[in-house]
Amino acid sequence: MAGYICAKCEKEIEIDPKVDRIICPNCSGRILLKKRPEIAKTIKAR
Ligand SMILES: [Zn+2]
Repeated sequence: MAGYICAKCEKEIEIDPKVDRIICPNCSGRILLKKRPEIAKTIKAR
C-alpha cells in the first residue's frame, strides 16, 4: 500500500497501484500525488 494525496480534493488515500486503479475513491480524480515519507532523523532521543 502507498499513501497518496488527491490533487483535486486533497484527501489522503491509500491504494495499491498494482491492484487498484489510481483513481481517488472520494472524487474519482485521477491525479494523485505520492505522499512523501516523513523522515524523522533529527530527533535525538535517549
Ligand atoms: Zn479526490
